[in-house]
Amino acid sequence: MDYKAAFKAAVEQVRAEGRYRVFADLKRRRGAFPQAVWTRPDGSTGDVVVWCSNDYLGQGQNPVVLDAMHAAIDATGSGSGGTRNISGTTHYHVELEAELADLHGKDAALLFTSGYVANEAALSTLQKILPGLIIFSDALNHASMIAGIRNGGCQRHVFRHNDLEHLEQLLADAPVNAPKLVAFESVYSMDGDIADLAGTIALARKYGALTYLDEVHAVGLYGRRGAGVAERDGVMADIDIIEGTLGKAFGVMGGYIAGDADLVDAIRSHASGFIFTTSLPPALTAGAIASVRWLKEHDEVRQAHQERAETLKRRFREAGLPVMPSVSHIVPVLVGDPVHCKLISDMLLADHGVYVQPINYPTVPRGTERLRFTPTPFHTDAMMDDLVKAMDRLWSHCNVKRLGGQAA
Ligand SMILES: *Cc1c(COP(=O)(O)O)cnc(C)c1O
Repeated sequence: MDYKAAFKAAVEQVRAEGRYRVFADLKRRRGAFPQAVWTRPDGSTGDVVVWCSNDYLGQGQNPVVLDAMHAAIDATGSGSGGTRNISGTTHYHVELEAELADLHGKDAALLFTSGYVANEAALSTLQKILPGLIIFSDALNHASMIAGIRNGGCQRHVFRHNDLEHLEQLLADAPVNAPKLVAFESVYSMDGDIADLAGTIALARKYGALTYLDEVHAVGLYGRRGAGVAERDGVMADIDIIEGTLGKAFGVMGGYIAGDADLVDAIRSHASGFIFTTSLPPALTAGAIASVRWLKEHDEVRQAHQERAETLKRRFREAGLPVMPSVSHIVPVLVGDPVHCKLISDMLLADHGVYVQPINYPTVPRGTERLRFTPTPFHTDAMMDDLVKAMDRLWSHCNVKRLGGQAA
């Protein structure tokens, strides 16, 4: 077996499909969020404004968070030193789980090393705990939910994205007495649309299904205390399992679920992805506690965030740039083909100091390739001036369609 040739062929296949990924080499500048230093392939460097970070509120640089992390390192050292069961449950873990349970108004919460692991572990383990479980999954659910649903091996039905009629058909066709679970997200991060939470909950009730809601792109960002869209919509108590990340708006790292005490205890007791891995370092956990607490008290940051997103959408629209419909903080702009999408992104970075990653197939359907902007409260009007000017110029340069369907 020529192993090396096999590896090269695997990469070639990705490259041939135009999906080969080149990562931008960045160093964020503390205190200058959202600015970073970009190292070019030739080793030279330049300043860029990051327009596609999921550190949506700049919490990754909030001094309150950094101070908590420094203090935890000074107090206890670097790693946790074990799995949760074998010496790796520090007081910070206990405190953070209580903080997250309180945030979501649930009995209990359980930490995982990432949001991906939380989804994979929780959704696959629920199938072990509930034999015969049938999972109903939104067609645009994140890869981590799909992995968890598949790894459990249960019967699953995919409903068309945000299509409650289709969901109801599938629920109605399933055996009345089978255990059921509806898995969906609140904010879908590529389009910026938001699910009908109340409608989904009503259907789940009617057919006796549990609800599992991924609020990864909403925690910290929506609701009076930053618990997510379920809090904003007043339906938090009606969602059985809320899953979130500490790595996006909270600015640190880690994932979690929150829910009923018995349910959380069952997952704690059965999930491999929780049990057999070293727990999060105390410093990360301490930083997350500080971040969650701080955001509970600072609704004005969420309002500033929404204002920035609305302003950027308006400014793109005024320049005739095709902003896709989004009811959230996500600002996607349609390019519509992968080559131009990559080219515009490369030119923004190289010539304009703007970093926004192109989003191509398979992350989004072919023909809907886009640039996905995530303005934060720290993106100034002057940064928007520069961005809109650069985008306008490149749209003309590449002859990409504008609003109303006209190429310039
Ligand atoms: C990023 C993401 C996750 C995974 O969260 P991490 O903490 O980054 O592992 C889960 N669900 C959705 C919808 C995501 O976008």
